[in-house]
Amino acid sequence: MAQKLLIDMMKIREAMVRDSTIVLPEALFYPSGNSNGLKSICELTVFRFTCRRCEDAPCISVCPAEALEKDDEGIITRHTNLCVSCKSCVTICPFGTMMTDFFRHHRNKDLLYNLENVDEMEKFINACPPGTVTLTDDDESPEKNIYRLNDKVLIKEYLYITEKE
Ligand code: SF4
Ligand code: SF4
Repeated sequence: MAQKLLIDMMKIREAMVRDSTIVLPEALFYPSGNSNGLKSICELTVFRFTCRRCEDAPCISVCPAEALEKDDEGIITRHTNLCVSCKSCVTICPFGTMMTDFFRHHRNKDLLYNLENVDEMEKFINACPPGTVTLTDDDESPEKNIYRLNDKVLIKEYLYITEKE
């Protein structure tokens, strides 16, 4: 079975607190299975694991372009073809969930990796802060805060759980 990427969001945050000049590389799948455009792993991770899934989501109501939508599980999707990068959603989110990095139109191609390609995956690992992204044979393991993002990526993150769950 192919190895998976394990992205440790806790360690990434720690590294960024230690060194505020760090620019995180971005990893994408082509095409994104999630929406009408390319999505960074970071954006998918944040909406899946960090977002509080507000019932009357202020980010959705403030969006002037109707670019944000909730799926059946309450996970927000940003339609990149509609988003005009105004960042109103970033400002209004009471939990500081979204990062302004999501809305860059001009991505730095030197820091953009296609995870469908094994060589690029290795380069992505090497471009991330040391020890934050590794390859693993393991699978999802909630007791270790490790969750599956997709077939190729595991995310280590504190999971926000609503009372309903
Ligand atoms: S940045 Fe995009 S998704 Fe956010 S409010 Fe503006 S148009 Fe909507
Ligand atoms: S306002 Fe913030 S926490 Fe609430 S649904 Fe939107 S992104 Fe998630």
